Amino acid sequence: MKMKAVAKSKPGPGLQLIEADVPKPGPGEVLIKVKYASICGSDVHLYKWDEFAQTSLRKLPRIIGHESAGEVVELGPGVKGLKVGDYVGVETHIACGHCYQCRIGKPHVCQNLEILGFNRDGAFAEYMVIPAENAWKIPDSIPKDWVPLMEPMGNAVHTVLAGDITGKNVLVVGTGPIGAMAVAVAKAAGARRVIATDINDFRLRIAKKMGADIVLNPEIDDVRTVVMEETGGNGVDVVIEMSGNPNALNQGLSLITNGGWVGLLGIYGKNRIDVPMNDIIMKNLTLYGIVGRKMYETWAITTALLESGKIDLSPLITHRVKLEEYEEAFNVIFQGRAMKVMFEIDPS
Ligand code: NAD
Ligand code: ZN
Repeated sequence: MKMKAVAKSKPGPGLQLIEADVPKPGPGEVLIKVKYASICGSDVHLYKWDEFAQTSLRKLPRIIGHESAGEVVELGPGVKGLKVGDYVGVETHIACGHCYQCRIGKPHVCQNLEILGFNRDGAFAEYMVIPAENAWKIPDSIPKDWVPLMEPMGNAVHTVLAGDITGKNVLVVGTGPIGAMAVAVAKAAGARRVIATDINDFRLRIAKKMGADIVLNPEIDDVRTVVMEETGGNGVDVVIEMSGNPNALNQGLSLITNGGWVGLLGIYGKNRIDVPMNDIIMKNLTLYGIVGRKMYETWAITTALLESGKIDLSPLITHRVKLEEYEEAFNVIFQGRAMKVMFEIDPS
């Protein structure tokens, strides 16, 4: 049987709509009929074929995409705990199960991590095969088209819940999709005030809808004055860095109160950036580097937060497209007027 898919089939910028064989699930794997899949920032790198893309996509052709949801339609040999017809979200990180970290319960930092849509064919397709353990069953109460967003939301949950958040003043730096979700998670977890910054006003408006108490554009607003006014002159307790911009990180570090903590999820264009090391020490700050989602504790919390009804993800889905419209899909992202673009592959 054949299926449609969006793939990087040759080196260079752009993607191609291809016809591929529907994959067969091997032992321990399941075949998913993909219903919805959203575009992640890393897919944009793959489209552009920049240095990151060239070093991460080793084998072509490759069906890309990973933020996804769908229905289990076939079980490979030996699969337990799932059945045909289950609606599942998809964990993108595939852990080896036998390295030191996997053995001590930290598979999110597996030494042999594989990534769906990079090392294996991914989700911008009518069907995909994933390890059964990467399928996370979704209760009916969660809207089906929110489920692809649970993967990046898991990044936000992992970051915001890395330290104490209840009753704290929080600054979320960068309100892309993950920063905007971090705003909502911080509010749901009982933060006192959530202030969010971005240089994109379209995105700031969505961050406001996601529950930010105050949104600020550092290119226009006096962020320091507002933060100090809102925090009784102390500065924020927590900085959640979601921009990947070194200047934004430094702004956050300058606005944090002594003894505060910083959640670092944003990835910087270069590995070495300039930060005021002595301030970090003398302010007694705690810095958490965050990667991925705890497997599968973060998924359980993300599911519970959505089931609680405290978080509404619908403001994030700004565009809905078919697989064939992938060029338009990436173009709206390049124009900076999108939050999440959703492929409706087989919408229910
Ligand atoms: P994104 O690039 O869509 O959002 C980043 C936002 O930061 C943008 O809206 C941008 O306008 C804003 N920004 C840029 N400069 C700023 C400044 N000076 N002040 C305030 N805001 C500024 O990214 P995303 O998909 O929301 O992801 C957030 C970050 O997390 C990215 O850096 C991404 O690479 C990274 N990420 C890390 C992991 C991980 O496991 N560590 C996983 C996924 C994504
Ligand atoms: Zn491992």
